[in-house]
Amino acid sequence: MTHDPRSVTRRVAAPVSVSRPVSSPIHTSVVYRSTDADELDSQYEGRAKGYTYSREGHPNATIVAEKIDWLEGVKPEWGGGVVVASGMAAVSTMLLALMRAGDHVVAGNQLYGRSLRLMTQDMPRMGFGVTLADPTDASAIRAAIRPETRLILVETVSNPTLRVADMAGIAAAAKEAGVLLAVDNTFTTPRGWKPFENGADIVIHSLTKLLAGHSDAMLGYVAGRTPEMNKAFYDAAVTWGFAPSPFDCWLTERGLSTFTLRYDRAEATAAALADRLAGLKGVKRVLYPGRSDHPDHNRAGDLLKGRFGNMVSFVLDGGRDTVNRFLRAAEHIPFAPTLGDVGTTLSHPASSSHRGLTAEARAAIGIEEGFIRTSVGVEEPEQLIGEIERAVAASRG
Ligand SMILES: *Cc1c(COP(=O)(O)O)cnc(C)c1O
Repeated sequence: MTHDPRSVTRRVAAPVSVSRPVSSPIHTSVVYRSTDADELDSQYEGRAKGYTYSREGHPNATIVAEKIDWLEGVKPEWGGGVVVASGMAAVSTMLLALMRAGDHVVAGNQLYGRSLRLMTQDMPRMGFGVTLADPTDASAIRAAIRPETRLILVETVSNPTLRVADMAGIAAAAKEAGVLLAVDNTFTTPRGWKPFENGADIVIHSLTKLLAGHSDAMLGYVAGRTPEMNKAFYDAAVTWGFAPSPFDCWLTERGLSTFTLRYDRAEATAAALADRLAGLKGVKRVLYPGRSDHPDHNRAGDLLKGRFGNMVSFVLDGGRDTVNRFLRAAEHIPFAPTLGDVGTTLSHPASSSHRGLTAEARAAIGIEEGFIRTSVGVEEPEQLIGEIERAVAASRG
């Protein structure tokens, strides 16, 4: 069979092997062949399982979806979440699946930058009403709900000020009003907090960040707590064309196998870094939900139960020159506008994620020029903390 010249252009079957691979193969095939029309019928009618066209699903996407379902506690009877090409594709899938003409959304006022832009520019352009409200104040969210509100979208811990949302209050308000509660759990991860166990109807992830964890794969995920919602998410993703790449799914599967180890290590280092930074000359303020000087420390304790995460923000005492000296001195730590890499990264919101705001608008949410956000990775803790300490000292000129 393998020597049949007709199979040179298309292999008809995988090479025979009674042993099976230990790591998942990457399935790059866009189309899947069936034996005959009856077999295809049974597949479309749900009597047999199988793939047809990779925009509609492929094995590498299924593997990742099942793993995130498990991490987030998605029940089999809910039907399972959908993996899409990016975190923003997950937010879009959710909105495109659920919103009807005239519907309104209540969104957190400190969402991820692009989500915020989607809410303030694209949604209104398409005729949807949007009200932004402060998620640390459940009464503000409650007051923003209207009769035509379809859903609330919030993040549990905000970027980059690490404010903690009043999730219990928001879940109660959503339930009372009969609106759906969607939580973008990218920052907190299911290791930190499980939205479905705490009243959320929908969970969204940018898998690009901590879950894939190596800054080499871009992927998103969305799941709901009913089979109807998950069917709607699947259809929206297939129709609007948000299919994930098999290679990115494969890399994400690989990254996921070390997620809990990476997260626990990074979190422990983050707590130690926050405490060390707080005692340094040249540091005006440290923001870490695990510290008693954090504005939401009590709520963080109740909600996150000690899982305060890998993100630490702090404010250098000085302006742009101080920031530049700090970044140049921390030469082994990439200055890069993302988070959740296996190694530590630094970002400067005033020149990246929040550059679109005026200095006054930034100041109103506590982001001054000296504000630095650290996404802590898995380095040797003392080496990392030592390097940051030396860079803070160098920042003072
Ligand atoms: C990065 C991020 C997104 C967007 O994810 P992409 O994979 O970059 O599209 C959405 N929400 C949060 C909280 C993020 O950090």
